[in-house]
This record gives sequence, structure tokens and C-alpha cells, in this order.
Amino acid sequence: TPTPDEPLSGRRLTVRYGEFTALDGADVEVPPGRITAVVGPNGAGKSTLFHCLAGTVRRHSDMTGRVRFAGLDLTDRPAHARARLGVARTFQQLAVFPSLTVAENVAVGAEQGRVRDARTVGRVLALLGLDGPVRDRPAARLPTGTLRRVELGRALAGAPHVLLLDEPAAGLDTAEVTALAKVLRALAAEGTGLLIVEHDLDLVAHLADTVHVMTAGRIVASGPPDQILDALTPARADPTRGGPA
Ligand code: ADP
Ligand code: MG
Repeated sequence: TPTPDEPLSGRRLTVRYGEFTALDGADVEVPPGRITAVVGPNGAGKSTLFHCLAGTVRRHSDMTGRVRFAGLDLTDRPAHARARLGVARTFQQLAVFPSLTVAENVAVGAEQGRVRDARTVGRVLALLGLDGPVRDRPAARLPTGTLRRVELGRALAGAPHVLLLDEPAAGLDTAEVTALAKVLRALAAEGTGLLIVEHDLDLVAHLADTVHVMTAGRIVASGPPDQILDALTPARADPTRGGPA
């Protein structure tokens, strides 16, 4: 299957819970080969936007707007159908089967994705550093950082065109965040379109091509991180602080 060269796009996305508007007319694109980030305070609507793109908006909400990808209107398609079309996501509450091994968990992801290919499973395990002895251990009792890699592997095993990540760095130590950033950059370099919702502004500054800032359900600023994040965090704009190494 050729890689679509058009972005996953959300247009005028609006989600209401009764009288309350959680997301208010958001426009967002996730282009192939790019890392797009969404930042903003708690309650800004970041996860709601994520759920619109992933196909997991709660049923009791009232959603309007359109989600399109590869010439298709995905708006009314459920998450599993989007995954088959190459729009995958990771779960914050990890969707890992404790009794299955690391390799088996990743293989389950391949069953749910765009392609089913044992070679893809092998490549994903290697990419995530899960191809050592850990590959045959049951997922139960593995440390959080390892489980997060298994969860990412599950999403990648179906060879998605677009990968949606809600707070992928949550609970990771500095070394794990660095390793994650490397993996995400490698995926983008291969042409995968990435959307990350993230609290860690340093990670976003080093990783994202485009940043959207959300407040109270709206995207209030968009652009490259060096323009957008300096305005958010005065310390980062300090010229004596020095750039990234
Ligand atoms: P963020 O991810 O930026 O912290 P969310 O998208 O989770 O924000 O939430 C945006 C707003 O919508 C919050 O005020 C939250 O309380 C509200 N909200 C989210 N989910 C629901 C729901 N299922 N029912 C009612 N309100 C919700
Ligand atoms: Mg959230």
C-alpha cells in the first residue's frame, strides 16, 4: 500500500458535554513525516481533540466537525476501523495483556493494524530495544518504562501511517524520554505522521515540527516550537540560557 501523502485532518472539531463545550472548533492536521504537538493546561481540551482524531469520543458527548484521511471521511468510523486504515493510537492506561510475552503483545497489535507481517513485528521489537531476552518475558511485572515501549510497539506493529500519542512521556525517566524522542524522530523520518499531546514542553521543543497551543477548548496559537514556546515560557527565551546541545 502506498503511503498517503495527505495529512490526517480534523476540521471545525467541536465536542459538547451538555452545556459545556470541551472542544470549540479546532482545526488540526497531522501530515506524514512530521511531528505535530498539542500543548496546554489541564482541561484545555487536548485529550478531547485526541479522541476526535482517534475515534474514541465518549458516546454521551455531542461531536461535530469532520475527520478525513486518505480521501476518506473517518468521522463516523470507530477506532478499530481507523486502525485498519493506518491511524493508530497508544493508550495512557496501557493496553498490554499481562499474561502474554512482550513479543506476543506486539504481535497482537499487528492483528489490529493496517498490515499483518511478522517482519514488521521483528523490526518494531528491534526499534524499541525489545529484541533481547525481554521479548519472551510475560508483560506482567515489567517496569513502567518497558511497558510503555510494549504499548508503543503494539501500536507500531500494524505499520500505521499516522500515530496518535497522548502524553507518551508521562512516568518516564530522563533516559527513557531521550530514547522515546529518538524513536519518534526515526518514525517521522520514515514518513509516519505523528501527533503528540504532551505536558513536557522541553520534549515538544526538541521534537515537534509544529505546535498547537490550546486553552479552554480552542487552539489559540500554532507554529514552529521556537516561535510558539518562547512566548509561553519566558525562561526559554533567555538568550544566555543556550540552545539544545
Ligand atoms: P486536557 O486533556 O487538555 O487536560 P480534556 O480534553 O481531558 O483536557 O478535557 C477538556 C474538558 O472537558 C475538561 O474540562 C474536562 O473536565 C471536560 N471533559 C472531558 N471529558 C468529559 C466527559 N466525559 N464528560 C464531561 N466533561 C468532560
Ligand atoms: Mg489529557
